[in-house]
Amino acid sequence: PSTPNHAILNGLNDAQKRAVTSKAATVAILAGPGSGKTHTLTARVAWLVDHVGFRPEDVIVATFTVKAAREMKERIGKALGNDREKRIILGTFHSIARRYLAAYGRHIGLSQKFGIADDTDSRAIISRICKRLQLNVDPAFARAWISKKKAKGTEDAAKPARQEVTNVAGLQNLETCYREYQKHLETTNLLDYDDLLVRCVELLRKFPSCVSNVQTVLIDEYQDTNGIQYELMKLFAQRHQRITIVGDPDQSIYGWRSAEIRNLWRLLREFPKTDEVSLEENYRSSQSILDLSLSVIKQDSKRYDKVLKAIHNMGSRPVLRRLKSASAEAEWIVSEVRRVLTLSGSMLTYNDVAILLRSASLSRHIESSLGKAGIAYKMVGGFKFYERTEIRTLLDYLRVIHQPENNDALARILNVPRRGVGDVTIRSLLEEAETHSLSVWTVLSKHCRGDRTAKTRITKQAEQKLSGELLRPLDSIRRRIGEATGPNGTPLGLVQMIEQLLTTLEFEKHLKTAHPDDHEQRWANVQEFISLASDFVRDMGSSDEDALPEIEGLPQTKEVEVLSRFLANVSLASDAQTGDADQSKPLVTISTIHAAKGLEWPIVFVPAVYKGSIPHIRSEDDNEERRLLYVAMTRAQSLLYLSCPVFSSNGNGERTVLSPFVEPVERAFMKKGPCLDRPVMSEIARILQRQLPPEDSIFQGLPAMFSLEDNLFPVDPEEAKQDANGRSNRGHGYHPDAQPSKRPRLQAP
Ligand code: ATP
Ligand code: MG
Repeated sequence: PSTPNHAILNGLNDAQKRAVTSKAATVAILAGPGSGKTHTLTARVAWLVDHVGFRPEDVIVATFTVKAAREMKERIGKALGNDREKRIILGTFHSIARRYLAAYGRHIGLSQKFGIADDTDSRAIISRICKRLQLNVDPAFARAWISKKKAKGTEDAAKPARQEVTNVAGLQNLETCYREYQKHLETTNLLDYDDLLVRCVELLRKFPSCVSNVQTVLIDEYQDTNGIQYELMKLFAQRHQRITIVGDPDQSIYGWRSAEIRNLWRLLREFPKTDEVSLEENYRSSQSILDLSLSVIKQDSKRYDKVLKAIHNMGSRPVLRRLKSASAEAEWIVSEVRRVLTLSGSMLTYNDVAILLRSASLSRHIESSLGKAGIAYKMVGGFKFYERTEIRTLLDYLRVIHQPENNDALARILNVPRRGVGDVTIRSLLEEAETHSLSVWTVLSKHCRGDRTAKTRITKQAEQKLSGELLRPLDSIRRRIGEATGPNGTPLGLVQMIEQLLTTLEFEKHLKTAHPDDHEQRWANVQEFISLASDFVRDMGSSDEDALPEIEGLPQTKEVEVLSRFLANVSLASDAQTGDADQSKPLVTISTIHAAKGLEWPIVFVPAVYKGSIPHIRSEDDNEERRLLYVAMTRAQSLLYLSCPVFSSNGNGERTVLSPFVEPVERAFMKKGPCLDRPVMSEIARILQRQLPPEDSIFQGLPAMFSLEDNLFPVDPEEAKQDANGRSNRGHGYHPDAQPSKRPRLQAP
């Protein structure tokens, strides 16, 4: 190995350094929010490559979101240089699995051009099956049931899924549905999200040589892995058994997607020599934000307590504000954003503000207030840019170009834009396809060649339309993106392809006719889509994604199409953002709490903290909902605002009841806004932007940036007394020499 690269260790605290340089095969970093878990994991990747000498392409790093993957790659890049980060196999479990399947999937009988069925596709397919077979099951329930069954992991796939189905007939229906669904995916050459993982497990079990080069596997947000991801992790690491995981059981918020906290105990059991490191200093949030967040999570009596201490207290006591209505709440948020940013003397911008929502449906009032105030924003997670009708239609066209046998996509675009093709025609095409076990595309092509069956119900006119406006234009594009150059010379790039589609389909005109009220917004979405595509092509040009190592005796697929990867990317980007095509413009973030995981902002708003919103009315697990609120609160660095309208925003406008997670600690919040002034705000901004180390701050040595009373935390009267007597340094609580304490090893319950 080269000489130790101490630069990688610069600025890390002792526990972090120990985690980064640990020589143990398995390392588990279990620590609270903001303690630098992701920071440390990133440094460990750089360390393993630069100091230990692993080849970047032999290192696998799994993150929970696409965005986290991008950020981590960037940071590793800074530490490593020479573009070495691009060779690391880094992404979400799904995208890593997809890469292996794209490269070697044909060894387990996968067609090399498989498509990905996203959640919407899966739901639509299941709906149709239920209708066709007159199965008496709720499609949404069936979807969840099937997914749970697959996600359980291949080991115990035979056991019944967690969701209990008590009556036998119900179970039989679900099983029929499962079988038909799987058959449909197979004939249309699609894999759903779960299949990506399941099939990858199958591949790696049958052909361990695919991963024989892998030296080590590192996983962020481990608390949210599910059974099958655990299986995958072990398979990735099967050769050397080197695994590093980081996580926080308190932030496990994907139980509803079969994430299993048990995987943590399982890991410690199966790898008993695991080196456990805990990090106890929180670099993100002020002490008062941390105290309040902890008081929320501590209501869960079954959790494992951890030490967590803030290293700064730059900010005010969190605010809990009650407002008349959801729109008053939104107005208040906007005015508070303006006030604070102005006070910071423009040192903080809209980029420093996030509004975190329990469910995407709460965004309406907030969006409209921000819009009225002329504040630009972006939406993250659950808002489904790719689900908008116009984008969905374009994607369906691209999917048919990619995989003509994708009957679902084809059926959806037969009459969009309108070409006078009615339901009768569409149904008749689908039936013909089914009877002859052909794809709809093939049946359509036969018709258009004049190869009509006698009893067809498709009119000559429809045939002509479909042939002229759908089949031929798409065929021509398909030929032009062929492996190399088509008959007409240069191959078509992704962006040109989309543009050509828009022209051929007269898409703008179609939007005007179909959506007279908001066609402009829709056309703007289309433009955004083009810019996403062009970003994708640009990023891809500079990265070796898909360049999995060539393995002896196991040839890799060579033709990798831009289109195929783009579509996969779209299907897997559940955390896709909208509105940030122009990177230079500061934007307020509106995000679901789920999608805000791992991120941080100086100023965070959590509106609608009432019963029914959080805990959510449809959630079955109150503890998980509490952890969700904890995740939201611990995203804030300096200013945290919770709010609750007196009447709920969803339609019925019922009187709200404050969230039971907040109610017991209500008194610990400030009621109005924090009193901030200009010097305080700009000081906060400089520290947050790391222009100024906290120890040089004007706050250092000052007894009360905020009055001591502000930071008292009178939840439990006993503790309040203690606070007032003993721990009076909290009011200006920067703890430069906080000593990490010894902690007993975590035990499985
Ligand atoms: P979460 O549980 O929310 O994912 P985390 O434990 O992954 O949090 P990070 O996001 O890695 O925490 O770190 C929180 C913040 O603290 C980041 O801004 C990070 O850069 C900063 N940070 C972490 N460690 C240090 C350090 N040793 N010195 C200075 N800043 C640090
Ligand atoms: Mg993190």
